[in-house]
Amino acid sequence: LPLSNRASLVGPPEFSLLKFLLRNSDSYELVPKKKIQEETEFNPTQLEYYLAKLLKLKLIYHEKNLGYDAYKITFSGIDVISIKKLYESRILKSLSTIIGEGKESEVYAGYDFDDNKIVVKFHRIGRTSYKSLRRVNKDPYGRKSWVRLSIENAEAEYKALTCMWKNGARVPRPIGLGVNAIAMELIDGVQLSEKPELGDPEKVLDEIISTIKIAYTCCKIIHGDLSPYNIMVTNDIPYIIDWPQSSRASEETLYRDLSHIISFFEKEYEIVREIPQILSYIRG
Ligand code: ADP
Ligand code: MN
Repeated sequence: LPLSNRASLVGPPEFSLLKFLLRNSDSYELVPKKKIQEETEFNPTQLEYYLAKLLKLKLIYHEKNLGYDAYKITFSGIDVISIKKLYESRILKSLSTIIGEGKESEVYAGYDFDDNKIVVKFHRIGRTSYKSLRRVNKDPYGRKSWVRLSIENAEAEYKALTCMWKNGARVPRPIGLGVNAIAMELIDGVQLSEKPELGDPEKVLDEIISTIKIAYTCCKIIHGDLSPYNIMVTNDIPYIIDWPQSSRASEETLYRDLSHIISFFEKEYEIVREIPQILSYIRG
């Protein structure tokens, strides 16, 4: 069942149960049913009914092999909380189709309350492998839950977009933050990796470089995953998207980001630039 349909099937009691499981997901990977029973308002019959409903929608997971019943929220469960939060703050009226699926996120089109098309990006760290979980965990022993990491990544991307936008950079305008989701402006363009025909490739490259400079000097961030896939072009204007890992990056990362772009423009648009000059411009 699509995410939007599942969200609409979740009523206020199930929603509060979901939020309870989210609040407890840091300290308890699995939340014992006894704890849920003790700390929520539901009587046993109600609890049984709402848990069964959330299970059927795959918004929670039921562990039966511990000798006692325990539950935890799933990624879809957190997605649903985000959807409801964005709805309640009148940012997202409805969710539409999926437009992008990466290792660590799912991106949907949606509509705001004025029926403008917007984008909602759900962060889902560690959904596919524990490798990515380890990679984003600074302290290899301080195991943050995938829930916590996904929330932190969404917050980091929202913060980065907000700073970039305020400083006039070409990024999608951030519209709102859910739990693990951010709502932003839809860029109606094509990825640079599609090698679109550009009226003035020199100017497009200059715009990309000035966006990197704003990130570096005003927002103190480095993209860290800059490639033609994370640049969307519309009417010769390049927008840089996908900013989650920005604050953890190093100077080497800046060099690598730049060289991806410079070599792409050299290969596809025959523009020759020297990285050291661009680096000193960015740092200057
Ligand atoms: P990731 O690569 O981590 O999955 P991205 O932020 O790059 O996440 O988004 C994945 C894809 O979704 C993009 O390649 C792009 O096609 C689409 N997308 C993301 N944000 C937008 C946006 N603001 N406007 C239009 N399309 C977007
Ligand atoms: Mn991307």
